[in-house]
Amino acid sequence: MMPIHGWGRYPSVDARLDTPLTASRLKALVTGAESLIPRGMGRSYGDSALAGHILSTRALHHLLAFDESSGLLCCEAGATLAELLEVFVPRGWFLPVTPGTKFVSVGGAIASDVHGKNHHLDGCFSAFVESLDLLLADGSRVSCSRSERSELFHATCGGMGLTGVILAASLRLRRVESAYIHQTTYKAENLEAALDLFEAHHADTYSVAWIDCLASGPALGRSLLMVGDHARDRDLRLPRQRTLSVPFDTPAALLNRHSVQAFNALYYNRVRHAVSQQRVSYDSFFYPLDGIHHWNRLYGRKGFLQYQFVIPKSAGIEGLRSILGRIAESRRGSFLAVLKAFGPANDNLLSFPLEGYTLALDFKWEAGLFALLDELDERVLEQGGRLYLAKDARMSEATFKRSYPLWERLQTVREQYGARGTFNSLQARRLGLE
Ligand SMILES: Cc1cc2nc3c(=O)[nH]c(=O)nc-3n(C[C@H](O)[C@H](O)[C@H](O)COP(=O)(O)OP(=O)(O)OC[C@H]3O[C@@H](n4cnc5c(N)ncnc54)[C@H](O)[C@@H]3O)c2cc1C
Repeated sequence: MMPIHGWGRYPSVDARLDTPLTASRLKALVTGAESLIPRGMGRSYGDSALAGHILSTRALHHLLAFDESSGLLCCEAGATLAELLEVFVPRGWFLPVTPGTKFVSVGGAIASDVHGKNHHLDGCFSAFVESLDLLLADGSRVSCSRSERSELFHATCGGMGLTGVILAASLRLRRVESAYIHQTTYKAENLEAALDLFEAHHADTYSVAWIDCLASGPALGRSLLMVGDHARDRDLRLPRQRTLSVPFDTPAALLNRHSVQAFNALYYNRVRHAVSQQRVSYDSFFYPLDGIHHWNRLYGRKGFLQYQFVIPKSAGIEGLRSILGRIAESRRGSFLAVLKAFGPANDNLLSFPLEGYTLALDFKWEAGLFALLDELDERVLEQGGRLYLAKDARMSEATFKRSYPLWERLQTVREQYGARGTFNSLQARRLGLE
């Protein structure tokens, strides 16, 4: 038994962690097991990859086949996005969808059905998954896709490890001509200006805004919007990323209202012009935080929670303004919040995105925080929105069931494939998905 936590370092549990070196050993561990949960790189923030017994897929990370003409890659689920980029960028291929860190596994990306800065045009990671192989509770290996066992496929993509262990997947990579991105940065003086910019740049492949969530009044929602696309300069050499590391837990008191406010103002004001253009490496465009290893230690020993919600477009700017306004008033939100535009929802049972806007921000763990987050949950639900399971460590069962109406179908599929009772996380128990 050892203490294990997610990226937010809250909660932490004493768990048995197995890291099987072969698929047959993994199968032996699953067959007849009482209750366990698969785990990739542990980059989910809360308790979705936590349980009394955890099964790491980290050692199963081989690349199995690649079709150079179509970009179809078959790999084991423990392969990380960083490993894929290292191999495929020099050959002119990129990930079709990537989250804000490359240190996630393919299995974790499928189980959370992750989204990137191109969701408004391309959808989630699962949109590029042709098929996957799943280890079921009875030890059998089955494959599923949109045309074969489609209900299992749609329950597993976004299913948070609750249907079985993803062993391998076939996914379509995107052809690129460069390891660089042409980035344009726009300054938005408030939320309205930021949303106008998102609308105006709908046709751009990638877009994201960093919001100063401590700015209030007329500056509420002031932000920097970055839009980008792959450069075409035929420079496929891997850019070297400089990395720093936070070697130990910093005292949580270092992150307080004043230090964070100063950081945010500095970040916003460092960009002098309303519009500026840069050629940046893919690492710096997609993974700015990966350059600081263990940055999660900055929040101190007790950790932090990331709060990510989506508000449907139909709720209008007022929906977003009311929640952002409450966050600014609380003066608890830290550093910069990330705002992205989402395109339409997909057919997966628990995928997070809905057409609208999503905001993600960190809150240092401290007394009284949960009362604020409960209040925010209510506002999100009132607007027809929901919270992202990959970031969640505390939402109530009622909040979950109100906002993910297809949860009962997930339970039916789990029942049908024998997953109930075997694949369970702390999160699943909290959300009434046992
Ligand atoms: C800095 C940072 C930025 C991020 N940015 C984004 C973002 O922009 N967009 C986004 O969508 N997400 C984002 N995330 C969240 C992250 O992409 C997801 O939490 C992802 O699931 C993590 O993958 P992992 O391999 O670490 O999975 P883990 O955290 O280990 O597990 C996450 C879930 O996947 C399940 N799982 C893992 N492997 C398997 C498997 N082989 N079979 C079945 N189930 C499995 C687990 O049971 C668990 O429910 C970010 C996280 C960080 C730390």
